[in-house]
Amino acid sequence: MRIGIGHDTHRLSPGGPLRLGGVDIPHDRHAVGHSDADALIHAVVDALLGAAALGDVGQMFPDTDPINRGRDSADMLLGARQAIEAVGWKIGNIDCIVFAQRPRLLPHRQAMRARLAEILDIVPEQIGLKGKTGEHTGPIGKEEVIEAQCVALLVPR
Ligand code: MG
Repeated sequence: MRIGIGHDTHRLSPGGPLRLGGVDIPHDRHAVGHSDADALIHAVVDALLGAAALGDVGQMFPDTDPINRGRDSADMLLGARQAIEAVGWKIGNIDCIVFAQRPRLLPHRQAMRARLAEILDIVPEQIGLKGKTGEHTGPIGKEEVIEAQCVALLVPR
């Protein structure tokens, strides 16, 4: 077995929707980034690549490459999945935390798990997803940023 950890941060800016876990969530802010700025997917990508010691999302999809501008992070996640499969691993489970003061994630949790499961070719029961606020303090609580963390367990194919 192999374990990996991923973390990502994106700045928030006025105007929705908020792209998270491959889902467009109705919200009055969006995440800013070179790609579609999906912090949750980027954390999952890094956890998968980290577990297989294959580098990180920035290495696989450099933000200096124009092809990655506005890129759908689902493509990146698919690429990461294919990369770990190519070296003999598959996903046992992933467990994720999204850090955001708003919006409440619970109403959107099943949609995000279903979308991630679809991209990763696993079942939603293999995906843990939790939301935490910033208790109105710090950059998360003041809604300046959104962050995500993920751990991934890989098992032989
Ligand atoms: Mg990112």
